[in-house]
Amino acid sequence: MAPDPPRATVTTIVTATTDNRPGTDGDLLLPVPDEDLLSPVPDEDGAPFWEYAARGELRVQTCTACDAPRFPPRPCCPHCQSFDSHWRRMSGRGRIWSYVRPHPPLLPAYAAQAPYNVILVELADAPRIRLVGNLVTAADAALDSVDPARLRIGAPVKVAFHTLPGGMTVPRWLLERP
Ligand SMILES: [Zn+2]
Repeated sequence: MAPDPPRATVTTIVTATTDNRPGTDGDLLLPVPDEDLLSPVPDEDGAPFWEYAARGELRVQTCTACDAPRFPPRPCCPHCQSFDSHWRRMSGRGRIWSYVRPHPPLLPAYAAQAPYNVILVELADAPRIRLVGNLVTAADAALDSVDPARLRIGAPVKVAFHTLPGGMTVPRWLLERP
């Protein structure tokens, strides 16, 4: 049977994320440290989102002409086609719009923490904007720190910021009523 092209792509990602790190050869049987979790790679349009996150601020790109928020960040407003935008600060409140619980097969660093959760958060200040993240018990807690029984669509959440071993700060989410 011919090799499956998507699998080859996954192998490439694993290699890229474990390059130059001693002791991380992708062996599925070894514990995999948190530094092997993937980090966001900011592009020019999205860089401010991550710069604000590093300061503990959740901001969403907003059209200066028509006031519509947009995500993911991009140069042009999809509503009025204006190129003028600014970054509006959000309260950091939202609710779980949907969620999944990933199970293996996963990248090794994620398999070590599975099953965990990935939630889609609808922002209270911009209900059309939904951000992907993890629900955790504290900003720096493990991905699987929340009891899966607590996952509920509509549950109110608030943002917290976690700095990854590589230095990027990412928004995570805490239950408003732990
Ligand atoms: Zn606009």
